This record gives sequence, C-alpha cells and structure tokens, in this order.
Amino acid sequence: MSIIKEHIIQPIKDCWSLIVGLKVTGKYFCKPLITVHYPREVIDDENLSTYGGHVELIGKPKDPAMPKCISCMMCVTNCPSKCLKLVKQKAPKLTPEQEAEKKRCEEAGEKFKKPKAPKNPAKFMYDYTLCSLCGTCIDNCPAKSLKFSNNMYWVATSRKEMNIDLLARLKEQATKLSASAPKTEAKPAAAEKEANMEVMAKSHFAFYTLVILAEP
Ligand code: SF4
Ligand code: SF4
Repeated sequence: MSIIKEHIIQPIKDCWSLIVGLKVTGKYFCKPLITVHYPREVIDDENLSTYGGHVELIGKPKDPAMPKCISCMMCVTNCPSKCLKLVKQKAPKLTPEQEAEKKRCEEAGEKFKKPKAPKNPAKFMYDYTLCSLCGTCIDNCPAKSLKFSNNMYWVATSRKEMNIDLLARLKEQATKLSASAPKTEAKPAAAEKEANMEVMAKSHFAFYTLVILAEP
C-alpha cells in the first residue's frame, strides 16, 4: 500500500499542484503589464494619482504657495510617530501708531485690541523616515490641508534629506505649477516628475519604489 502511495498517488498529487501553479502563472502571463521598466518608462498620471507617497501640504486655491493650514496642531498631536513639527506665527509687533493707541486706551480705561498672529504656520517640518503613512494627520486635519503626495520618484542619499520642509516644498510646487501652467495645465504632476528625474540621474545611490496600486 505504501509503495502505491509513494510511486503513484504522491506523483499525481505533485503533478496536480504543478498544474494549479502553472494555471495561475498562465492567467497573469496573459494579462496586460501593470509594472513599468523604470527609468526607461514612467508611470502615467492616472496611475500616479493613486500613489500614496509622503505627506505634504495643500495650498489655497487662490494662492497655491500659501497652505490652507490654520496651525491648529491637530496633526502634530495625533501623529503616532511624532514626525511632524510645527511652529506657529507670532503676533506682529505694534507699530508706533498702535503703541500710541494702546497708551490712549490704557489711559481711558478702554480695551485695546491687539493684532492677532497670522494663522498659517511659520515653520512646518516632516520627518519622512519616521512616518508610517497611517494617514491620521490627514484624517484629523480640520482645514483639509494635508494629503499624501504622488512623489513616487523620491531620491535621497541621506536621512537628513528626508526631513522635509513642507512650506518650502509647497512654495516650490506652486512656482513649478505657475511656470508650467500655460503648457501643461491638465498635467500638474508632469513638472515635478521631470525635476525628480533630473535628481535621479545625478544620484548614484538612488533608492526608489515602483508599485502601482491600481490596475489599469
Ligand atoms: S501619516 Fe501618520 S505617521 Fe505619517 S505624519 Fe501623518 S500621522 Fe504621522
Ligand atoms: S491639522 Fe491641518 S490645520 Fe491643523 S496644524 Fe495640521 S495641517 Fe494645519
């Protein structure tokens, strides 16, 4: 009985397992490719839009260089990895006219209205090396000022480079967007992709991830 099992039943089982495996391989072999041969090919904008890269700021529609952020600190407080650092703006110093008005109010026993600090942050740093991409900051932002970037062609040669100045990045993106607006209005990611490709060419230690999250 054991000879039959060893020389007949077991080989049949092995062959069947092979056939099942080949069936799966054949199925995906015939499907269209969902990966690209980077850097010879790059991801199209449609698939790039589904990529969840590092966290970044969203600008105001009328002023893309100015974040929608109101410095409420919700993202900083809720980030489980403590990778966000925000410095709030300080209230502006009183002008000589305001100082005089303040003095007058004090003498008259009236309440002086101090100028308020601007709501947008003075500094907003993000350490990508610590981020788990959990999305808590994005979900908790009341101003809808944060999103995952589609910065797939990320290149860095040190951890320091992955400590991103989010305000500087937003300004840079706004400048690129306005520069490329007449030609590529419909493709806002194109300018950024081109810039990142240049950085990639210069780097000898490029580290990149190529994953398409959605099938075409
Ligand atoms: S995605 Fe998560 S870990 Fe990354 S900055 Fe936001 S809250 Fe922190
Ligand atoms: S939660 Fe949104 S509005 Fe509040 S500090 Fe963070 S980015 Fe700014």
